[in-house]
Amino acid sequence: MTPSTASKVFPAPEHNHDLCLDEAMARARKAFEDKGLKLTPLRQAVFQEIAAASHRAIGAYDVLERMAARGERLAPISVYRAIDALVAAGIVHRFESRNAFFACHAGHEQRQLVLACERCNSVAEVDGARVFAAIDRTADAASFSASGKTAVVEVWGLCANCSGRDTRHAQS
Ligand SMILES: [Zn+2]
Ligand SMILES: [Zn+2]
Ligand SMILES: [Zn+2]
Repeated sequence: MTPSTASKVFPAPEHNHDLCLDEAMARARKAFEDKGLKLTPLRQAVFQEIAAASHRAIGAYDVLERMAARGERLAPISVYRAIDALVAAGIVHRFESRNAFFACHAGHEQRQLVLACERCNSVAEVDGARVFAAIDRTADAASFSASGKTAVVEVWGLCANCSGRDTRHAQS
C-alpha cells in the first residue's frame, strides 16, 4: 500500500465521489474474481449502496431501506447475506462500534486502523501494521496468545476537513 496524504485519507466533502465508486467497484470485481466467487447482481447492488454512502458507515437496515426506496424490495436475510459476502471478500468492513458497514477505499492486505470523524461521520482507513504489532507485543508480554482476530482498531476524533488542521491542503 502506498502511503496516502492527509487529504487522501479523508477526501474533501466536495470531491468527485463517482471516481471513488468506479475504483471501489473495480476492486470489488477483482476481489470476487480472485477468490473464485461471484459478484452477483444483488451483491453488486448492495455494495453500490454501501459505497454510495460516501466514506460513511451505514447500518444493514439503512441499506435495506435505501434499496426499498428505489423500488428494490428485498428480504432482510438476503441483504445481510450479501453484506456478509462483501465483508468476507474484504471490500466492505464492519465498523464494530457502530454495528455499521463501510466500503473499502484503501485497497490493502494488512490490518487497518479505522479513523472515524465524530462530526461528519466519515470513516477512513490507514495502515495499522505498527499498531497491531504493538498490540501483539503487549499481549505477548502479558503471556496472552492473541488470536490475530483483532482486525479492527477504531479511533474517534475529527477529520482534517472538520478540524481545519490540514493546512497543506486547505488552500486549494
Ligand atoms: Zn469518495
Ligand atoms: Zn479496507
Ligand atoms: Zn469530519
